[in-house]
Amino acid sequence: MKKNVGFIGWRGMVGSVLLKRMIEENDITDINLIFFSTSNFGNQAPTINNISYGILKNAYDIDLLMNLDIIITCQGSKYTNDIYFKLKKLDWKGYWIDASSVLRMKSDVIIVLDPVNYNIIIDSINKGIKTFVGGNCTVSLMLMALGGLFQKNLIEWISVSTYQAASGSGSGHMVELLSQMGVLYNSVSTDLKNPFCSVLDMERTVANIIKTDHFPVSKFSVPLATSLIPWIDISMSNGQTKEEWKGEVETNKILGSKKIIPIDGICVRIGSLRCHSQSFTIKLKKNISIIDVKTILKNHNTWVSVVENNYEDTINNLNPLKVSGTLNILVGRIKKMTIGNDYLSVFSVGDQLLWGAAEPLRRILLILKKTI
Ligand code: NAP
Repeated sequence: MKKNVGFIGWRGMVGSVLLKRMIEENDITDINLIFFSTSNFGNQAPTINNISYGILKNAYDIDLLMNLDIIITCQGSKYTNDIYFKLKKLDWKGYWIDASSVLRMKSDVIIVLDPVNYNIIIDSINKGIKTFVGGNCTVSLMLMALGGLFQKNLIEWISVSTYQAASGSGSGHMVELLSQMGVLYNSVSTDLKNPFCSVLDMERTVANIIKTDHFPVSKFSVPLATSLIPWIDISMSNGQTKEEWKGEVETNKILGSKKIIPIDGICVRIGSLRCHSQSFTIKLKKNISIIDVKTILKNHNTWVSVVENNYEDTINNLNPLKVSGTLNILVGRIKKMTIGNDYLSVFSVGDQLLWGAAEPLRRILLILKKTI
């Protein structure tokens, strides 16, 4: 019998990327897909391949949710906090698939990234686990990029700097970055056409516009266009941000590590629109050649590929624009560091809306369809 699958948060960024992938891969024909909304219920649900999906249901209607076999939510942490525990209290027997971070570290919850932890996922389904959540975007992208080195137990520790796109914070933040860019361009658009206009005059104009009260900063609190923000998420008591904290705890949970692999660094929001980049300093457990490192990285999964460490390949291929909208995980700038032969530097780029969010959720739905 077809499973009843409720989809909440399907029009957000992660949700719409997930729905697109499900349609592309023909994942929706063998389930009863029911669309919910927190803000627009009663209105028309989407029409897909000329099939109408009826009326949007109320995402807060507990009776309706109780009848679902599987709930996928990309709505965000508040919705999960509001609904998940109510359903569990009522002894709901269904499976919960979630993009938000709320449940990730609970002991009866699995963080899914099946190219890395397929065996843990299957084992947990057999043990009766019913909650499967996607990992933090930079964590999933790091594991897809460096999966081979983790799998071969070659990593002693990692220090990382991230370069995270505006869309990582949600649709409103992406709109705000574009608005900021628009305001800045408009302020110098006439000057740009004048070859004799001083660039420092333009820089001053831009700097003054940014300081005005009407410059749009309600989402990020500060300007992102022409700048960066070296702080993502709330603060932890040890000086880390929560985004930085997730790097170690979620990675080790996904891997099922017996001995914790230390991972720390600084997470930075930059003015790219989509796709996250990361720069890793990796302390290897032993000295292995660059040729072997590349082979190990390439062989781990179908989606990772190595960009040669030269100027042309790097500037043309190792950047957010190159991977945007694709499942490709690019790793480059692979080199031994001058610090010592067992220190490796690697730069990676991946689409945080795909492998960093939607794709692991799409794939756990496939696994559940086959196994439950
Ligand atoms: P989002 O784009 O802001 O969407 C969340 C919800 O906001 C939508 O489902 C929609 O709910 C509502 N919404 C309000 N205005 C909207 C608009 N103009 N366009 C689209 N939706 C709008 O959030 P998200 O980035 O997809 O994140 C969802 C969850 O995934 C969060 O928990 C986030 O932490 C997690 N996550 C995000 C990323 C990422 O890269 N963005 C990566 C990994 C995990 P209604 O239809 O019910 O109004």
